[in-house]
Amino acid sequence: MRAPRLVNLKTVHRAWLITLPLALTAVLLTVAAQIGRPIYATNLPAAGLFLVLFVVAGLTTFRLDVRRHSFVVSMIAFPLLLGLFYLPPLLLVLTRTLATLMVRWHQGQTSVKLWFNTALSGAGAALASLIVRAGGELDGLSPVTWLILVAAVTADVLLTLSAVIGVVALVQGRASSDAMARSAYPGLVVEAVNVTIGLVVLVLLQQGPWSVVLLAALVGFFIVAYRSYARSLQQSRALNEIYELTKAVTSAPHDGTLPDVLLGRVRDLLQAEYATLWIPGRGRYPEVLLSAKEGYDALLDIAATPVALRQRAYREGKTVAVDPRVGEQPDRRELRRAGVKDAIVVPLRAGSVVIGCLEVANRLGDTSAWGPEDARLLETIAAHAAVAVENSRLVDRLRFDAYHDALTGLPNRRRIVEALEESIAARAADEVIAVLLVDINGLQQVNDLLGRQAGDELLVELARRLREVAPSPALVGRPGSDEFVVTLGSSSGDDALDLAVRLRGQLRRRTKVGAVTLDVDVAVGVAVCPDHGADPTVLLQRADVAMRVAKGVSSGVHLFSQALESRSVQRLGIAADLRTALDDGQVQVHYQPKVAIADRRVVGVECLARWDHPAHGPVGPADFVTLAEHTGLIHRLTEVVLDDGLRRARHWSDAGHPLPVAVNVSPRSLVDPEFPGLVADLLGRHGVSPESLIVEITERGMAGDQARQLPVLRELAGLGVRLAVDDFGQGYSALALVRRLPIAEVKIDKSFVQGMATDPGDLAVVRAVVDMARHFALDVVAEGVESELTLELLSGVGCHIGQGFLFSRPLPYERLEAWFTARTEADSTGAGGFRRLRAVG
Ligand code: C2E
Ligand code: CA
Ligand code: CA
Repeated sequence: MRAPRLVNLKTVHRAWLITLPLALTAVLLTVAAQIGRPIYATNLPAAGLFLVLFVVAGLTTFRLDVRRHSFVVSMIAFPLLLGLFYLPPLLLVLTRTLATLMVRWHQGQTSVKLWFNTALSGAGAALASLIVRAGGELDGLSPVTWLILVAAVTADVLLTLSAVIGVVALVQGRASSDAMARSAYPGLVVEAVNVTIGLVVLVLLQQGPWSVVLLAALVGFFIVAYRSYARSLQQSRALNEIYELTKAVTSAPHDGTLPDVLLGRVRDLLQAEYATLWIPGRGRYPEVLLSAKEGYDALLDIAATPVALRQRAYREGKTVAVDPRVGEQPDRRELRRAGVKDAIVVPLRAGSVVIGCLEVANRLGDTSAWGPEDARLLETIAAHAAVAVENSRLVDRLRFDAYHDALTGLPNRRRIVEALEESIAARAADEVIAVLLVDINGLQQVNDLLGRQAGDELLVELARRLREVAPSPALVGRPGSDEFVVTLGSSSGDDALDLAVRLRGQLRRRTKVGAVTLDVDVAVGVAVCPDHGADPTVLLQRADVAMRVAKGVSSGVHLFSQALESRSVQRLGIAADLRTALDDGQVQVHYQPKVAIADRRVVGVECLARWDHPAHGPVGPADFVTLAEHTGLIHRLTEVVLDDGLRRARHWSDAGHPLPVAVNVSPRSLVDPEFPGLVADLLGRHGVSPESLIVEITERGMAGDQARQLPVLRELAGLGVRLAVDDFGQGYSALALVRRLPIAEVKIDKSFVQGMATDPGDLAVVRAVVDMARHFALDVVAEGVESELTLELLSGVGCHIGQGFLFSRPLPYERLEAWFTARTEADSTGAGGFRRLRAVG
């Protein structure tokens, strides 16, 4: 079975432009060299011997891989040199030409390439013969003879080289031929060795028949040494290429060009018709199937190999290849049906998890198949590629997360606000921008009665339905837990209200959640720009006010009006209480230890605010922090927490075991130019050194006003205070922050840490963050460590510090002290008391 021709036919035919003149040259030069010279009968058996020698030399080859094509460097110079001495020109040309034809035919070369090589070998031999003839009589011993022979063989080598470079330039273009010329050097060295040895052999042969024995031994050694040299040449080239590829792949910008770089190179390196990257879909990530194919510039979304093949490699985590020495065997019939003659499929591994496959199909050029070395090469590339793929997926994920709701995949609040900003800016004079806030009635009860999963299911179903029924130019998003937003251009507020009625009608259907069928009901509040404001946040807030009213009316929809506002403000009665709470010390600070994973030593604490409302009981920090941010009390809150934290820090340092304290600082404090002054004051007042204070910032908040936040952060860093990026992984600009600020620590968001034991994607994110942190020499803290398993995985990926319920919940100062004491005692009694202590809190 012959390899299909894969090179573009038209350009291949250009090779005849060189082949035909070469053939002509061969004939003319042979005639010129032979004319007037005798051919004796004894020459004929010698010619037979040389035919054998040429064939053997032609088969004893090694491959030079240049770009997509391989070129063959052989030991031909050696019999050529002897033949020039012993054979008349005509016989030399004939034996060599015939040998080349036989060898190339045997190798499966067809058509133009075969004839090109044959004509070239004839022309080379003829040229060499002519040079020998011009040099005069040869005696085989004198240095003059050597020189003549060297000149003749060199002429052959140079002719071969220039013809090959010429043909490559014609067929593949300049870039390839330049690369070829550059890589010719090792070939020339080999030729020089060949020639020298050929001369030695010649001299020996002149000494008499017995020297042939010595010669045979020498040739044997030579062949062995030669082959290993050739192999090491090839290996060093492969190493070099891997290095280049790794460099290219790891430095590929995270803009989606990674597959281009990777697949293009893999195809070149393995000379494959197809190089394919496959990553199965996971969660909201769609499947990736991309191929670089011979003759196509852009990547294709098809592959040559049957699906079963890559799924097998993926499932079993093993290389699958046609060559039985390489790995698992594919079903040959299936391959044949797919028109694949050769293939290697290698699993891509991130740690112990297989994330996809890298594959090559159909080797180009000569017929030799891919062997174990090629498979090893591909496996090595896959190992490097997996890291790059995971990293780029991390960035994609971060980017996606920053703008999408994790559960439904809908645009999140941030994206909605941006989209609103855009459409408000582009609003036509006679149109309004409508914001419809759709609230699901009773989602909380569904959560409580049927479990969170049922609630999630309901949300996903409603998101799907809403996307289906909303008019197509509308943006459907999910700004909060039980709400959706639909925004679009409309002709008036009343039109928007009509749409709200329609949407509500279509959403209020019976819905099956698990085994239960629910009557779903929603309320829709509507606000429009410009009537109700031109600021997205204000519009959303007013749609929210209208929605609350809608909940109380039978129609279930309501359009915002100014009169509604005062009512909603009343609900915020609690806002007034926060101020008193801060002043009266109702807001307390709890401390959660940060622990070194290796020896479970406490290396710091995080300060977390708590508010126990006298009437309503504990208010969640997320709630009162937001409240504080919106009522101008956030500075006061930060100050209360800082003050308490620094007082404790001073205490610990006085007691001889200093502990750094970490304080969460809201983005709103970071736009306050006086904030660094306050921090410096408090540090001074409590006599705490700045490096004992860690300021935790979330990059989510940094999206707003970086121009004002960055100088404040730099000033803080200038004081010697350490900066940490909190909830790392939740947004996508965190990496940018790390580059722009002197960050000392990153805290991996607990959602990834908690997921890492079960979700390979989360594990990969944690690993990538740890790698990234190491790269920037940052401390990494894993938040939300709740189990020993997670702890083990964390230490496996090289994360050194953990924080979470496994060690301790956030505790009031006194209980934290008790916890410390108990731990120290447990340690000193050696009772392995650590685990028992988890009960504290
Ligand atoms: P954060 O800064 O990410 O704080 C860590 C949160 O994770 C705390 O929630 C902590 O109780 C919780 N946590 C710690 N270990 C585990 C664990 O193993 N499993 C689980 N499920 N959770 C764990 P908390 O105290 O409710 O605080 C929530 C958020 O409120 C904080 O998130 C922080 O962003 C904010 N916050 C708290 N105190 C302050 C403050 O003083 N100022 C500001 N600006 N924000 C604060
Ligand atoms: Ca924090
Ligand atoms: Ca956090």
